[in-house]
Amino acid sequence: ATPTALMVGTGRGAQLGILIKGPEVLETTRKVDTIVLDKTGTVTTGRMTLLAVHTVEGTEEREVLRLAGALENASEHPVAQAVATGAAERLGALPDPEDFANVPGLGVQGIVDGHAVLVGRTKLLAEWSIELPADLARARHDAEAAGRTAITVAWDGAARAVLEVADAVKDTSPQAIRRLRALGLTPILLTGDNKTVADSVATEVGIDEVIAEVMPEDKVDVVKRLQAEGRSVAMVGDGVNDAAALAQADLGLAMGTGTDAAIEAGDLTLVRGDLNAAADAIRLSRRTLGTIR
Ligand code: ADP
Ligand code: MG
Repeated sequence: ATPTALMVGTGRGAQLGILIKGPEVLETTRKVDTIVLDKTGTVTTGRMTLLAVHTVEGTEEREVLRLAGALENASEHPVAQAVATGAAERLGALPDPEDFANVPGLGVQGIVDGHAVLVGRTKLLAEWSIELPADLARARHDAEAAGRTAITVAWDGAARAVLEVADAVKDTSPQAIRRLRALGLTPILLTGDNKTVADSVATEVGIDEVIAEVMPEDKVDVVKRLQAEGRSVAMVGDGVNDAAALAQADLGLAMGTGTDAAIEAGDLTLVRGDLNAAADAIRLSRRTLGTIR
């Protein structure tokens, strides 16, 4: 394509809400055959709500919300926001943790009211050799079967509760995925979340391939593996967790509604955070470069 055509393509992209880092990006966009989609915040809204609290015998729901809410208040993760907001709505003000650490892809840990508290995946508890009692394991299983994310809460060495949080698929996601398929791309859902939850979201939006329970630092390896199979890979994401994978992908598409780290790592920004813009970008590049008219 001529430089003029590329410039026109770039300008048209801006009108469609697609910011393109440079004209050469259009060339890669044209070639991709696989599109890896992050779940939370990309396919779903990422605005999660706390839906239920299951406690073990002898533990008060208020205490669970106080300790878990205080810790999650210090984290920006969508799950954390849901827990902190849900707790604040029910209890009012929450205490400040005396100590706090983020454990990427697993949860948070810290000290609240003198208790050593963990909030996150069961795997986080397992690292501290804390087991989930049968009633909480059942609550977790039922929540996940219903497509919800189950978060465990433990303090002072024992699991005390399971929290159910959920977000919704973006209205635009199913249509966008149909359009991406019509353009010949294979969609793959990639997430750190549980497999059962991921499968439920994938079914809702029309994706057949799911790669779940992937640690943040391993998302980039998933992209490398697909590339080693000879695929040309686009990756769409919004989180700090997605930045390395966005940079590794042949084409990185960042949600404009996402984190700065993702936007910096991407080749394209989908300004409105609508996946339809990913399909628009691919159509535009093919048209600009003369593959379709
Ligand atoms: P995704 O790939 O879907 O954007 P992440 O890799 O950020 O998800 O997180 C994976 C999983 O780890 C979440 O679904 C949640 O179960 C757990 N998790 C991560 N951060 C937190 C947190 N602050 N509080 C509780 N759970 C968390
Ligand atoms: Mg995300």
